[in-house]
Amino acid sequence: MNKYRQETICVQGGYTPGNGEPRQIPIIQSTTFKYATSEDMGKLFDLEASGYFYSRLQNPTCDYVAAKITQLEGGTAGMLTSSGQAANFFALFNLASCGDHIVSSSTIYGGTFNLMDVTMRRMGIDVTFLSPDCSEEELNAAFRPNTKVVFGETIANPALTVLDIEKWANAAHAHGVPLIIDNTFATPVNCRPIQWGADIVTHSTTKYMDGHGVQVGGAIVDSGKFDWMAHADKFPGLCTPDDSYHGITYAEKFGKEGAFITKCTAQLMRDFGCTASPQSAFYLNLGLESLHVRMARHCENGQAVAEFLAAQPQVECVHYCGLESDPYHAVAQKYLPNGSCGVVSFELKGGRPAVEAFMKALKLAAIETHVADARTCCLNPATSTHRQMSEEQLKAAGVPVGLVRISCGLEHKDDLIADIKQALEAMN
Ligand SMILES: *Cc1c(COP(=O)(O)O)cnc(C)c1O
Repeated sequence: MNKYRQETICVQGGYTPGNGEPRQIPIIQSTTFKYATSEDMGKLFDLEASGYFYSRLQNPTCDYVAAKITQLEGGTAGMLTSSGQAANFFALFNLASCGDHIVSSSTIYGGTFNLMDVTMRRMGIDVTFLSPDCSEEELNAAFRPNTKVVFGETIANPALTVLDIEKWANAAHAHGVPLIIDNTFATPVNCRPIQWGADIVTHSTTKYMDGHGVQVGGAIVDSGKFDWMAHADKFPGLCTPDDSYHGITYAEKFGKEGAFITKCTAQLMRDFGCTASPQSAFYLNLGLESLHVRMARHCENGQAVAEFLAAQPQVECVHYCGLESDPYHAVAQKYLPNGSCGVVSFELKGGRPAVEAFMKALKLAAIETHVADARTCCLNPATSTHRQMSEEQLKAAGVPVGLVRISCGLEHKDDLIADIKQALEAMN
């Protein structure tokens, strides 16, 4: 399938039915799988043979969908998880453990920030957050002998900064560690981070990949490019025998192409159990079948709404890398030549009262804690997700009181603009 274009992989990747088999991926809603002998089963447990035995670890429906996402990202192995949070936690924890250190971009999803800044610190894993726009010198200076991984988002949620992936990959590789990129907002239709040097790609499939707001899920894809054995001292979990799996050394047995995902499945999925359900994977696959068609419309609507907002006197400023005036326009032309996403954020003049009046007057755009869905939705972080913060704290977090995040859906752009226009008028 890798020889095909993204559009074709979206529709047909990951599953090729044999003669007389179902055309659509079957939902294998079964916790377990039957074997003739204990010997057959033993081989699976020892990772001597590949096959299914218990759906906490692997399930055929989930694997078809993981294979499609792996092909879309141009990787060698992939897996689904129960959420985007689980995907990022697994990807990081597969490399860093107690006593280790992570270098991360500071403009990342709030849930991922919290995961590293609070929960992983409690596990003894330290983290240094850096501006995505830091200089090469600042980036290189953040590394320590115990740094195990670098993390960033292609397009940050909700800051909408665009990461210079090549710069961050070069710094990671110069220090002998891999780069993880959360590619949720761009999707592989608009950016393939592996092409720019990323080693591992993660997703919250809850967003555009699903695109209809019906399942919460995540995915991890390995590029198969990072040479673990060349940095064996840094990655004992991959490069020394795993006693919990009969002394298997993942990097030896499964090579660069398979070690990361095999360890992630055999250890982390086994022990934490953040498993995707086959039914959810089936819904996710329906979303993926039209991802390439939908992304183009999300981007068209995002661009039109951003341009409209930028011309309104009630609007203080607009953040969208498709606007020439945006600080990330140049970097987006390199990494996102076909468009970024449908999420636009903007600041209204007049603070909290203006935002409340504007949001109340919207008719099409619903107030929701969600993004990247077929239905346009919007959120004022200051009165919702960041409600507990004071005005000073909001400023420090880069979330001004007047900031509104609008996720442009698949409706007609003129209807979205008309809705925003009447809401802006209602404010006065
Ligand atoms: C939503 C989101 C996540 C978390 O994903 P869930 O599926 O909600 O757990 C992680 N990263 C980004 C960029 C997101 O937008």
